Amino acid sequence: MQNWRSELNRLCLLLSLATVIGYAVGHTSWVMLISLCVYSLSNLYQLRRFNLWLNRDSSESDSEPPESYGLWGDIFDGIHRLQKQERRASSYLANIIDKAQESSAALEMAVVMINRQGNLDWWNFAAENLLSLHYPKDRNQSITNLIRNPSFSEYFHSENYDETLKMEAPGESSKILEFQIALFGENERMMIVRDITQLHRLESMRKDFVGNVSHELGTPITVIKGYLEAILDNLDGLDEKWHKPMRQMWQQSMRMENIVRDLLMLSSLETTGLTKTQDVIGLQGLFSEIESDTQQMFKDKAHTFELVCPPSLDIVGKRSELYSAISNLVVNAAKYTPAGGHINLCADIGTDSLDISVADNGIGIENHHIPRLTERFYRIDGSRSSETGGTGLGLAIVKHILARHEAELEIQSTYSEGSCFICRLPLSRVALSSIDDETRLESTEKE
Ligand code: ADP
Repeated sequence: MQNWRSELNRLCLLLSLATVIGYAVGHTSWVMLISLCVYSLSNLYQLRRFNLWLNRDSSESDSEPPESYGLWGDIFDGIHRLQKQERRASSYLANIIDKAQESSAALEMAVVMINRQGNLDWWNFAAENLLSLHYPKDRNQSITNLIRNPSFSEYFHSENYDETLKMEAPGESSKILEFQIALFGENERMMIVRDITQLHRLESMRKDFVGNVSHELGTPITVIKGYLEAILDNLDGLDEKWHKPMRQMWQQSMRMENIVRDLLMLSSLETTGLTKTQDVIGLQGLFSEIESDTQQMFKDKAHTFELVCPPSLDIVGKRSELYSAISNLVVNAAKYTPAGGHINLCADIGTDSLDISVADNGIGIENHHIPRLTERFYRIDGSRSSETGGTGLGLAIVKHILARHEAELEIQSTYSEGSCFICRLPLSRVALSSIDDETRLESTEKE
């Protein structure tokens, strides 16, 4: 501002001097014109210097601006200051980028940046090993062309990356990789890939171990239980003091048999996939079968059952598994509801799901137990469960079976009032025949 004012003063002084000299020599206009030309030429000269400095070649990029005075000096200094600030900021950014690239290069997991067209932008060293990417050949190539696997393409285009994708490494079936994608910026993606071969191997070993141990225990337990049953049938010949221990041994052998049966079931659910051909199951028939089997099991408790199910509702799934899941819930309801209680089994088609609920007015569950109920061997009260022959594996089995049918388990309960277990199946599991029946029913009702 100071220099701007002195520049104006200088111009005024020049014009006043030109007026005085012009008046003295009798050619005021000429002298004024000449002095304005001199003033403009000096500004043009400064502009030229400025232009030359701006267009200097890159080898001189650090050179100081031309020396000048007044307003021009101010302009040169200001621009030089801005240039220095910008240089500092870009070197700071370059530093950060270098550090990010160096640290991701040191990672064991692959990091791949993918632009919004789905093409490769950048990747770290591990990506070259895990995904066989080559720099610079693969730059700007489409990721789905480089990783040619239908499940990867489906995962990549789904844009739902809540879950990770596990699959064999491209061109190396012995390696198992886990893919996780995060969306950022304008539809750009960062993909992180981990080698989980070892983890996968340990997990299959664990599953095999549980399966094998349960299988191997099956025969000895059956033999022990068989002998105990034979002894219990002939208790008369046995000393009175052995009666109680024999009964307890038999009860425990029953429990062991149940645990082994449930563990085998869990292990087969974990190790085998759901077959492609599935059954069309009439829900009403399934409900009746479960009701009569449970009533038979808990004859002494004389519960009242209520079944609510649209008459022609069919679902698609594995019958034996769905029987087992719903039956587990109904048996639990019967186990944990005192004699004379009420059990309600209901199927209801909602807007997003088919809900199969099992409700009882039994002992209920305290709120803080609910999130852990589907964990293996989680039981609220061990002694109560063992009295009822529980293994603590029932709800874990239910959860597994439902997950195989893309369904979820919701648990609602009020302590000492009762519980409700809801299986939410996707509508895609409702058989088309029952949807046709339903629409036919609706249209006849409208008519
Ligand atoms: P368990 O074989 O012991 O019944 P589950 O996995 O089937 O094992 O159930 C886990 C626990 O959840 C049970 O020990 C029981 O305490 C509780 N539970 C399950 N169903 C009910 C129910 N309908 N009412 C009250 N408690 C229940």
